[in-house]
Amino acid sequence: MTIRPILTVDSDLATLKQKSAPVEAVDDALRALMDDMLETMYDAPGIGLAAIQVGTPKRVIVMDLSREEEPRAPRFFVNPEIIWRSEETAPYEEGCLSVPEIYDEVERPARVRIRYLDYHGSLVEEEAEGLLAVCIQHEMDHLEGVLFLDHLSRLKRDRAIAKVRKAARAEAA
Ligand code: ZN
Repeated sequence: MTIRPILTVDSDLATLKQKSAPVEAVDDALRALMDDMLETMYDAPGIGLAAIQVGTPKRVIVMDLSREEEPRAPRFFVNPEIIWRSEETAPYEEGCLSVPEIYDEVERPARVRIRYLDYHGSLVEEEAEGLLAVCIQHEMDHLEGVLFLDHLSRLKRDRAIAKVRKAARAEAA
């Protein structure tokens, strides 16, 4: 397994804005990508990562929502779809490995029903709520080239990107 560099809004916004393509087969090559993504996410550390964040425009997401004291519980979502959204919405303070150090509140449907292929290519359908609902919607946005910043006001978005750039420059100096 290899830790891959994570693209940020500072390093490669153009790639992050790309729409990802459906996966044709869940095979060993795809599992190798998912293993690398998981390792990269744990190393960051983060709770969710979409393939485009490591520069691969495929509809693949990895996630682990376990608490620090709990055993790891990796999850894999290939070609995920939202087949139902609740009308009720809920706010959550989101962050993103591609937008380091920025957190802001986003309002999304509180519950969603999702359909996806798992690590072995089996079709799964489940209802998500709480952090899973937030995280899967955030990560699925990445597959469309959408960042959580795009849900904020333009002023907040511009300010956040400027802050990430400034931090990146300070680190490089
Ligand atoms: Zn993100």
